[in-house]
Amino acid sequence: MKQMKQIKPVIGLEVHIQLNAPVKIFSPENYSFSAQPNTCIHPISLALPGTLPRLNEQVLRLALRLALALRCRINSVFWFSRKNYFYPDLPKGYQITQFDMPYAVDGVLRYLFNGEWKSLKILRIQIEEDTGKSIHELDPFHTLLDFNRAGVALLELVTAPHIGSPEEAEACLRAIRQLVRHLKISEASMEEGSLRCDANVSLEVDDSGITTERVEIKNLNSFRFLRQALHAEIERQKQLILEGKSVKRETRGYDPASRKTFSMRTKEHLHDYRYFPEPDLPPIYIPESLIEDVRSEIGDLPEEIWKELAKLGVSEKERQFLLDEPDIYAYFKELCDKHKINKEEALKWILGPVTRYLNEKKIRISEFPLSPSRLAELIKYGENSGVHMSLLKQVFRLWVDAPGRSLHEILREAGVSEKQMSQTEIKATVERLIKQYPEKVHQYRSGKKGIFGFFMGEAMRELRGRADPRIVSKIVRELLEG
Ligand code: ADP
Ligand code: MG
Repeated sequence: MKQMKQIKPVIGLEVHIQLNAPVKIFSPENYSFSAQPNTCIHPISLALPGTLPRLNEQVLRLALRLALALRCRINSVFWFSRKNYFYPDLPKGYQITQFDMPYAVDGVLRYLFNGEWKSLKILRIQIEEDTGKSIHELDPFHTLLDFNRAGVALLELVTAPHIGSPEEAEACLRAIRQLVRHLKISEASMEEGSLRCDANVSLEVDDSGITTERVEIKNLNSFRFLRQALHAEIERQKQLILEGKSVKRETRGYDPASRKTFSMRTKEHLHDYRYFPEPDLPPIYIPESLIEDVRSEIGDLPEEIWKELAKLGVSEKERQFLLDEPDIYAYFKELCDKHKINKEEALKWILGPVTRYLNEKKIRISEFPLSPSRLAELIKYGENSGVHMSLLKQVFRLWVDAPGRSLHEILREAGVSEKQMSQTEIKATVERLIKQYPEKVHQYRSGKKGIFGFFMGEAMRELRGRADPRIVSKIVRELLEG
């Protein structure tokens, strides 16, 4: 009988991140995913005769932000290369990219997998331009071309082949998406193509350190497809090995319907592209001052946020939520840092009423009617006045519907000052109850402390929930103790 072999997947990712700079990489026009076809074009992005590209500093700054966050080594002098190939959506016949001197190398991605933070080596990041789009679905006889995307700034991030499973590959890609969103350098939407992933996979047999030829699976445009495609491809390669056949080096695609990968082309060789240094652009020099300036723009990174929130007792699910919603996290930070709200208190509001409101209205935090400074005002009012949370929440609901009004006006409208019972009123009510139930008071004083609940319930009922339970409970206890 043939002995079972031990087979381990070896996976590496190539991830494209579309930068959200207000300009394209070498030209001044803006790009928007939803713009009408061929309306965001400039002669430079089509390389019309007489035009020359020039690297926009905004692009470089965003690129540096990612490289610094991944602790890469920055090549302070780098250059662009020209990669020649013909494609209908590449009217220039070449792409400006990086080859032998990328701007950043040797980084570390920190990612969360099964509750543990792990490291993945980043081999390189390069800056390059995107191509236009070929559209095949709209016309049965023709391919339509939309050049809006041509020349949009992309980063290509290449990881080391140190990922051991499809699930872990997914965790790495999620960490990349989270990071770039925290850095605010990209929308990183897989649906809209601002985050794209190719996965390379080979198999290592019996810890030999030698792998089969690697296969590159192109255009995995969701986390699920990344995972499924890798499973399918690993299975296919295993079968080949068990049948004693070899795995061919090639580029494959993934068909979600059959859940199988299919051959697209055998891998092209480097010399097919005739790379050479881009003659239209000089080498780029990055001054140390620019690096330091960009470094100072980098806020908290996901791992720090995760650990800090854990210290504050935030559940794993809520931590995940805040990591996936950097804008909500930024709102939280502003409440605490700028408006000096206590972190626990701020979290209570963000994860409670604020998130509930966003979900209910299906809006993003950027559309949330109350600015951090207004919410802070309400939270501080609550702390100082001792008004209880349920009442504050009513005020909150009124205020989000009329965010133009002042807190003072809203409080008046909610009748909070009248609703908020003064201590003397509460005391009068509790005293009445004490007189009404002498028997129970006696029981309490002779040790049946459970009677406290009875008085508390009666008092809250009489006060019709208009009083702060913390104050009521303090008064009930005082008067019962006698
Ligand atoms: P190419 O330019 O041919 O795409 P790169 O050196 O840029 O080659 O590597 C591309 C990707 O292939 C990287 O993500 C790397 O991790 C991955 N890779 C390299 N060797 C292997 C392997 N044996 N198995 C799986 N992936 C690999
Ligand atoms: Mg590559």
